Amino acid sequence: MQTVDSINFKNKRALIRVDFNVPFDKSFQITDDTRIRAALPTIQKVLKDGGSVVLMSHLGRPLKKLKEDGTIDTEKFTLKHVVKHLSILMKKDILFADDCINTNSQSLSNNLKPGQILLLENTRFHKGEEKGDETFAAQLAHHGDVYVNDAFGSAHRAHASTTIVAKHFSKENKCFGYLMASEVENAYKVLHNCEKPFTAILGGAKVSDKILIIENLLNIADNIIIGGGMAYTFIKAINFNVGNSLVEEDMIDVAIAVMQKAKEKGISILLPDDSIIADKFDNDANVKISSNATIPSGWMGLDIGHEAIQDFTKVIQSSKTILWNGPMGVFEMENFQNGTKSIAVAVAHATQDGAFSLVGGGDSVAAVNKFGLNDKVSYVSTGGGALLEFFEGKTLPGVAALM
Ligand code: AMP
Repeated sequence: MQTVDSINFKNKRALIRVDFNVPFDKSFQITDDTRIRAALPTIQKVLKDGGSVVLMSHLGRPLKKLKEDGTIDTEKFTLKHVVKHLSILMKKDILFADDCINTNSQSLSNNLKPGQILLLENTRFHKGEEKGDETFAAQLAHHGDVYVNDAFGSAHRAHASTTIVAKHFSKENKCFGYLMASEVENAYKVLHNCEKPFTAILGGAKVSDKILIIENLLNIADNIIIGGGMAYTFIKAINFNVGNSLVEEDMIDVAIAVMQKAKEKGISILLPDDSIIADKFDNDANVKISSNATIPSGWMGLDIGHEAIQDFTKVIQSSKTILWNGPMGVFEMENFQNGTKSIAVAVAHATQDGAFSLVGGGDSVAAVNKFGLNDKVSYVSTGGGALLEFFEGKTLPGVAALM
């Protein structure tokens, strides 16, 4: 894997695909700049070598959210909103091109001097971006001598700026940025090179969202812990009464097949023995603890119970590699956060004792952040969909394009 460390950027223009798809408030102030900060080390490396930087990114889904008159909402989706903040973080002026391929942008990038940074306008203002259009990608490629991809969060998309553009650069002139490299290295380590026992903890709402990962993990993991809303489909599949808990009826046969396959392969699937149940989906609902064999009608499981926490903790504690995706309950509500918090603590303890732990996928990342444990696990992925597809066993086009 070639990273920015393998290239000397002196007098070269690096065309860097970053992920500046950041959230804004109503007055276009950035509310979370994690993604921008994550790209800074790669930008700094290029500048330190004596190179210049052309940044490209998408922001939102401008072509899916057109204005009433059918035109693009350039006010809402412009990357210009990022310029001031990036300039503060980099402690230098940032040039901005009002389009990512027009002649003005080409002349700005052609005239860049070492040390300068140019940010191109939202790549998704052009249809060619999401279509992976060859001509559009060729136009983007004109902006750089070297192509760097540091947008792991978009690596599962074969879009022009994430994948197709790479065709225009020789093997020596394209590479992984630091963020992308560490995401790929850590995910690869878990999937292909992990120390055993390997425990995967899967939670969240739906079995259907996670089934491809579960099926792939049946080839690798020693233990698969299933919590959160998705556990109740499995619990119903073994003929227990789950009351009004979340169940995907059409996934029951799939759940049975997964449990059967795990048994054949000697992999243990752990389901929660008990739950915190509630009489409505509300933080102020009446609650009680129930065995998962007998959840009364009218009640629903919104968090794993104390026995489940103990069982899961024991397995986590004896693991050498841990992958965690998805909360154990409705952790956004205070009364149903204990299971997720306890599992986060167990993962942190196991990490302290020498296990390698990777937490990834939106809500489990939000959970470790919420409980202040993000620096107590080995790696927190920024990947979202890209990470999930990696663990489903798929080749990520953005990664393959750099090889
Ligand atoms: P996902 O995006 O599939 O990882 O799902 C995350 C969501 O699952 C969070 O918003 C949780 O509130 C929700 N969730 C977790 N446990 C349950 C549960 N027992 N019942 C309903 N929703 C749940």
